[in-house]
Amino acid sequence: MMERIRGFLREVGAKAGIEDWIIEALSRPEKVYKATLRVKMDDGSVRFFPAYRVQYSTARGPAKGGIRFHPAVTEEEVTALAFWMTIKNAVVDLPFGGGKGGVAVNPKELSRTELERLSRAYVRAFADVLGVDRDIPAPDVYTNPQIMAWMLDEFETIKRRSEPGFITGKPVALGGSEGRNIATALGGFFVAEEVLKDLGIERPTVAVQGFGNAGSNFARLAAEAGWKVVAVSDSRGGVYDPDGLDVEELLRVKKEKGSVIHYERRKKISNEELLTLDVDLLVPAAIENVITEENAGDVRARIVLELANGPTTPEADKVLQERGVVVVPDVLANAGGVTVSYFEWVQNRSGERWSFERVKDELSKKMKKAYAEVKERAGDLRKLREGAYALALERVAEALRWRS
Ligand code: NAD
Repeated sequence: MMERIRGFLREVGAKAGIEDWIIEALSRPEKVYKATLRVKMDDGSVRFFPAYRVQYSTARGPAKGGIRFHPAVTEEEVTALAFWMTIKNAVVDLPFGGGKGGVAVNPKELSRTELERLSRAYVRAFADVLGVDRDIPAPDVYTNPQIMAWMLDEFETIKRRSEPGFITGKPVALGGSEGRNIATALGGFFVAEEVLKDLGIERPTVAVQGFGNAGSNFARLAAEAGWKVVAVSDSRGGVYDPDGLDVEELLRVKKEKGSVIHYERRKKISNEELLTLDVDLLVPAAIENVITEENAGDVRARIVLELANGPTTPEADKVLQERGVVVVPDVLANAGGVTVSYFEWVQNRSGERWSFERVKDELSKKMKKAYAEVKERAGDLRKLREGAYALALERVAEALRWRS
């Protein structure tokens, strides 16, 4: 993973004319913290879990990035994710560096009280290096507002002071922001609006892969805007109707029956078929590496909006670019989540509480500005990924130059 990042830095850095010493500086994390968490289980036994917090870069501000609870977590993975947070935060021009955390654990095997003890143990292990001006965690895979609340409570107990801005993605009652739950989808939606305007498409047809937080909220926003959502899917498969699906009904079916495939009287399609539908806007919002060298030639969408992280392989990306497909890269398309986290941090520091309308307004401005800047840097709608990477790297490089 780090090899890929170094290759990436050399390639983008060379094109953007960035000095070798900056590439060298960004080829490794600033700080890596490791701990073994000791957790008492409900049955009285004791288990141990490897835990990490990586502050990849603090050149542009305090480190910022989520904490992941997943069995596959490793130091290398957390480090790579912390690097990508550095890039994402710079693309949307947030005053943050990049960080990430993780615990190698299968949270599904833990009871609620065990999960609470694990979350508190994480904070005890890293409390010295976290904080509102130092490193600000947030939810990621299998962590949620309840876990953020336990972490905040532990942190404030240790520090003997109130510091809500130490963590984002909290429940609103503890200083969380309105709109955080749909922020990723909303940010992607605002960018999609701009791309559609640029391409002169008014009522796009839309296919969404993945019907979780990001995908289902995006589908709802699209339907509300009068766009035609013709296909959606989840891990069990998808449904398709060229006349448009009823998204509210899909949300109900997903909630009641566990999968969108129970949406009635519509054509069933596989996740692979969904990717090759003839639509204006394709939104991968599930997992990584779904658009590959094998199927990129069959993608018929005019726009791919990467709500998921890393849904397109580098080989597939080249094929899409050659075929003139406009790909909105993940570092821009799904940056709405971290942007509203930033708004949460701003609110906590100023003691304000913004209305949902204000959050929506500020997010719209931030995402549209980021899109405009990426587009200008790219110079060509087919090169948005290159543009976003170059812009981010230039921003981090500028901060490093002033500091050196
Ligand atoms: P989620 O767990 O809420 O939803 C994931 C959805 O994908 C589920 O509907 C699941 O059934 C489906 N899925 C899983 N495997 C699949 C497969 N093989 N094929 C098709 N569908 C499959 O997750 P989420 O929070 O919506 O995140 C989705 C993606 O968006 C991830 O890549 C995540 O990293 C990215 N993302 C999310 C946020 C956020 O704030 N939620 C922010 C940034 C990036």
